[in-house]
Amino acid sequence: MKGLCILGATGSIGVSTLDVVARHPDRYRVVALTANNNIDLLLEQCQTHRPERVAIATAESADRFRRKIKNTDLADIEISVGAEGLVEAATLPQVDSVMAAIVGAAGLLPTLAAAKAGKTILLANKEALVMSGDLFMDAVTESGATLLPIDSEHNAIFQCMPCNYTPGHKAISVRRILLTASGGPFRTTPIEQLAGVTPAQAVAHPNWDMGQKISVDSATMMNKGLELIEACWLFSLTPKDVQIVIHPQSVIHSMVDYVDGSILAQMGSPDMRIPIAHALAWPERFTSGAEPLDLFSVARMDFEHPDFARFPCLKLAIAAAEQGGIVPAVLNAANEIAVAAFLKQRIRFTEIPIVIEQTLSAIAPSAAETLNHVLAADGQARIVAEDFIKQL
Ligand code: NAD
Ligand code: MG
Repeated sequence: MKGLCILGATGSIGVSTLDVVARHPDRYRVVALTANNNIDLLLEQCQTHRPERVAIATAESADRFRRKIKNTDLADIEISVGAEGLVEAATLPQVDSVMAAIVGAAGLLPTLAAAKAGKTILLANKEALVMSGDLFMDAVTESGATLLPIDSEHNAIFQCMPCNYTPGHKAISVRRILLTASGGPFRTTPIEQLAGVTPAQAVAHPNWDMGQKISVDSATMMNKGLELIEACWLFSLTPKDVQIVIHPQSVIHSMVDYVDGSILAQMGSPDMRIPIAHALAWPERFTSGAEPLDLFSVARMDFEHPDFARFPCLKLAIAAAEQGGIVPAVLNAANEIAVAAFLKQRIRFTEIPIVIEQTLSAIAPSAAETLNHVLAADGQARIVAEDFIKQL
């Protein structure tokens, strides 16, 4: 029986994780859940899963939660608060595995703390790895933590790697990785219409049901750019070793191309419970609740080259991956600010890559030797990006 902490329990990945865990009460005990401000859902999750601890990102939400559990049978749940509270929850001694499913840079500190504490990390929070790649992978190696990818593509690649493969190492005999992408909701939208698309259109992903930020990232294809950086760290590759393949049906979740000409692919329904169950059960397997894939209804699979003119964010991310140092952290922070501004209708969809590009060119690249370098770059990029948005 393993103790589980879910960072970001109230999000799309958090909810799917609890759905899988509820199917396997003999394998996992929910020790800690964390949330930002969706207290109602957190309360419901506590009623069902009975964690001993919750961590809540803001004092105001924590107070609301405290009032709600007072004089109920949940009153003895321990509550930790703020960024430090998230770290506390992720590093409790009774926690064996941490599902890192906070969206964006907010997930970096607790995920890194879990890595330093030698936990098994189920990594969905790609932004944490994009920001701090080297430092994060070093923390995993030094503490002996186990790192298992949840992002469907990276989980697929991991499944197609040799059976004794450990993330962070270079797999022998691999020629390259084929990182698949659906192309998002605007794959075929006439380019001149992209300036007028609304947040509602951008978050309506054709194949996956996800949080808002990653849905917009999928529409700009920044998600695939972040995933390319994530893949380089997880599988010890350079950007040149990763070929992005547009595959609109999202049936193949990525592939590994071996030197002998064999290509191994992992396939399945587009349901995040599959990679979540894979990582929770690893190295065994157990049920996920997902529908089995019906190949007859899929009928055909298409593959296309990515269109860099349509998706300028992809190019920016690949260039950032090549530069390394603090550049991916700057890219990530500028993207978070630009996406939030687009969701609030402060900027147009097509202004997202402009804000990111301007931020990247305003901040001098440098090495990311310490966590402070990374956090400073993140903070500076947010200020610079926000300034550009005000000038637009
Ligand atoms: P979401 O928006 O649905 O949920 C985000 C979670 O993070 C929520 O629980 C929220 O409370 C928490 N959170 C947000 N801001 C926070 C803050 N400042 N402090 C503490 N907690 C905070 O997002 P999601 O779609 O579940 O994605 C989560 C992560 O998983 C992202 O990094 C995303 O890229 C990755 N991912 C998601 C999917 C998917 O299908 N949803 C697939 C692959 C990877
Ligand atoms: Mg993905």
